[in-house]
Amino acid sequence: MSKSVAIIGSGFSSLSAACYLAKEGFNVTVFEKNESLGGRASQFKENGYTFDMGPSWYWMPDVFERFFNDFGYKASDFYEIEKLNPAYSVFFEDSKIDIPDTLEDIYDTFENVEKGSAEALKEFIADAKSNYDVAIKDVVYRPGISPLELVTPKTIKKLGQFFGNISKDVRKKVKDPRLVSILEFPVLFLGAKPKDTPAFYNFMNYADFGLGTWQPKGGMHAVVQGMVKLATSLGVEFVVNANVEKIHIEDKITRGITVNNEYLKFDKVLSGADYHHTETLIGKEYKQYSEKFWDKKTFAPSSLLFYVGFDKKLKGVSHHNLFFDTDFEKHAYEIYDAPQWPTEPLFYANFTSITDPSTAPEGCENGFFLIPLAPGVKDTEELREKYFNKIITRFERITSQDISNNISFKKSFCVNDFKSRYNSYKGNAYGMANTLLQTAFLRPGLRSSKAKNLFFTGQLTVPGPGVPPALISGKLVAGLMID
Ligand SMILES: Cc1cc2nc3c(=O)[nH]c(=O)nc-3n(C[C@H](O)[C@H](O)[C@H](O)COP(=O)(O)OP(=O)(O)OC[C@H]3O[C@@H](n4cnc5c(N)ncnc54)[C@H](O)[C@@H]3O)c2cc1C
Repeated sequence: MSKSVAIIGSGFSSLSAACYLAKEGFNVTVFEKNESLGGRASQFKENGYTFDMGPSWYWMPDVFERFFNDFGYKASDFYEIEKLNPAYSVFFEDSKIDIPDTLEDIYDTFENVEKGSAEALKEFIADAKSNYDVAIKDVVYRPGISPLELVTPKTIKKLGQFFGNISKDVRKKVKDPRLVSILEFPVLFLGAKPKDTPAFYNFMNYADFGLGTWQPKGGMHAVVQGMVKLATSLGVEFVVNANVEKIHIEDKITRGITVNNEYLKFDKVLSGADYHHTETLIGKEYKQYSEKFWDKKTFAPSSLLFYVGFDKKLKGVSHHNLFFDTDFEKHAYEIYDAPQWPTEPLFYANFTSITDPSTAPEGCENGFFLIPLAPGVKDTEELREKYFNKIITRFERITSQDISNNISFKKSFCVNDFKSRYNSYKGNAYGMANTLLQTAFLRPGLRSSKAKNLFFTGQLTVPGPGVPPALISGKLVAGLMID
């Protein structure tokens, strides 16, 4: 008889696990508290604009490919992707650097900014590629159960890189502060300061420059739709508006869940909801981690987001744009060391309608603005508005155009929304950071050590934050459940 599994949440990790489990013959039902599937990668349409609510950078296409290959498909059987050129633009106070879509062109770009930097970058990227091959093709697919998983002939040779940090390494290679910022940018996806991120994680630079930035046709949500289609074809059932209120455990054995006041029996429960939240759904005696444990961890930032419709086309911007015209160190200090609203934040903006006109009405532009914030900071309408005005004024000055009178739609999303929509711990946007002490077996486990048949997946567990890691997390936990 096939075993029944309840999966809590429909983020990428849950969708991934659902597919692997269904393929092995489990009876899988996914319960999502919100009205739509995809977790942080939800999408909404308003006034003719289509907005991806969360992730927007499609990096590491090989990880997506590997996922679909596991089911005998290619990613292109479900959605199309296009390589962006420029991959992204980086704005500084008095200049802008476009990152092209090939390594050769990127080397030229660096050389034009700083003489000799192309050679240094070549060495840096060669090392980053070798780390990518070790990490993403192998080590990251291990379930974080034992420290020995990290010990391979290849990782032993790179041991020093686990104790050095990215920030130091980058500064050995380039001196121009703009190039330093560009090389430090990719590890921000891992949620911690470059100074606190092991040098080994430079594989993110290979993901950036070596593999490129891609855009799925229909946005990041097209990936969600592809995975839901695959899961449905394997027999997975989805229930939306289904808030899981309790996980039932009796005598250390997981028995089922309560959803919208109804008790449902299941053989196994897997939660892809935030780990901290999931532990509030079980009896105290089955919690593995205390409030103090969570409080001491380094969390990825929260964010202040704006989804904005402009009634005209914007000029001088790319699909992805980083505004690095202010002091990164100060902003990072205000996120990690002395949590508070940032004095002069760096911010990110994307305009998907530049490459995909279907995401905005004709002649209009679709804008998404993101300011990284310390998790848990006070969130009010006044503060949101203050920061919106701050970044729009800067945007207008730096890109030499007026946009504030061309806003035909605007919606914000911040700490309080992350908490209420996703049950996110302190309103974190993308989970628990990957620092040395929060890597692999040192992260909260995929399998409960206190209750049989209770499992966890997603960005607070192994391997970490981001869409590709979420796909891997789902595969890893499904492997443990199948075992
Ligand atoms: C603004 C933003 C930008 C990002 N940008 C990128 C990017 O460009 N590239 C990238 O790779 N990654 C990016 N990320 C990170 C990436 O989106 C996440 O790491 C990934 O989507 C997390 O997937 P998950 O499965 O861990 O969890 P989630 O997507 O958080 O899914 C968890 C789900 O559980 C549901 N849930 C919670 N509690 C319950 C309950 N009690 N009952 C039922 N359901 C429940 C939630 O509603 C949610 O749908 C970004 C994230 C954010 C927020």
